Amino acid sequence: MQQSVFDHMQQMGHEQLVFCHDPHSGLNAIIAIHNTTLGSALGGTRLWNYNSHEEAIVDALRLSRGMTYKAAISGLNLGGGKAVIIGDASKVKSEALWRRYGKFVNSLNGKYITAEDVNTNARDMEYISLETDFVTGVPEYMGGSGDPSPFTAYGVFTGMKAAAKKAWGKDSLSGKKILVQGVGHVGQYLTGHLIEDGAIVYISDINAERVKQTADKFQNVKVVDNNKIFDLDIDIYAPCALGASVNTETIGKMKCHIIAGAANNQLEDENVHGPMLIEKGILYVPDFLINAGGLINVAAELETYNKERVMGNVLKIYDRTLEIFDLAESKNIHTQQAATLIAEKRLADIASVKARL
Ligand code: NAD
Repeated sequence: MQQSVFDHMQQMGHEQLVFCHDPHSGLNAIIAIHNTTLGSALGGTRLWNYNSHEEAIVDALRLSRGMTYKAAISGLNLGGGKAVIIGDASKVKSEALWRRYGKFVNSLNGKYITAEDVNTNARDMEYISLETDFVTGVPEYMGGSGDPSPFTAYGVFTGMKAAAKKAWGKDSLSGKKILVQGVGHVGQYLTGHLIEDGAIVYISDINAERVKQTADKFQNVKVVDNNKIFDLDIDIYAPCALGASVNTETIGKMKCHIIAGAANNQLEDENVHGPMLIEKGILYVPDFLINAGGLINVAAELETYNKERVMGNVLKIYDRTLEIFDLAESKNIHTQQAATLIAEKRLADIASVKARL
């Protein structure tokens, strides 16, 4: 990392970065708290085998900032935070690791509330909940709301339909060729909705088992080699793996009209790739808007959980997507910028409300 951690925090507006280490369980975690203007910083814990500690820090910083915007644009009274645990998911998971991590989360007294993310699940949250109340996404049999992925997937489906309405005048995805990159938790649920709506679905994943599972479950899907996904002539690209898949190289190859997917931080550099997508005529649904369904669901766990109310809030992604397209057009800016403006306005409005008696 060429810049210091504090340089990064200052540039991205972070409040706090917490490093957690436990030699007994092998835990190495970073909790990033971006902004608590709207409330406690809620965001999942990602378990990933990062190539370096710097890569893990940057991921935590970028992901937690995205959570601030996600909560703000979704009308939630929550701040933005996220945690990463460094390690190989197939090796490091243990009761001791999760419970020790739970103690670290607890030590922040509710300033940070955790949930699932890539490579973590409701069972892991159950262990964490033994040591702290500041955890959501715990299993339904414990009174929690369980896996947030179905809600995220439904939100992505909803935002994608809004984009189709904008691009083609109607929101049916019937007959549209759609690539789902990454058929993990969200990607699989999304595939189901797309097939039900009559889309022609292509899937890719670096995990052969996940590809097989999905192809067995939905016999109409077409499997694509990971290295050939951008050779496909498709209507919609749905990134549901990891971030930065929309970059100079991939945009150069893309033959789609819409990008609408679940992954966080899809644009490698929004200042470069936002304008590049406009130039190429590709309609991009901002990631922190379209993938908010899971956050909306786990946030409801902090109140009296009501699934119908959650679904009602997830469906609001449709109108918000159209509102952002309109703002982007009227201001001649890219859609990620338009979504950021709306989120920042709410943050400033509520900060002003809170500053007064
Ligand atoms: P997951 O780990 O269950 O699935 C991700 C899948 O992507 C895995 O099957 C993995 O093998 C695959 N993958 C990784 N790199 C790939 C690559 N280069 N090419 C193709 N496939 C690749 O995760 P998930 O919960 O389904 O989340 C997917 C994405 O959506 C993540 O970026 C996550 O941060 C984001 N997201 C998830 C939720 C949620 O509710 N789960 C909410 C908001 C955002």
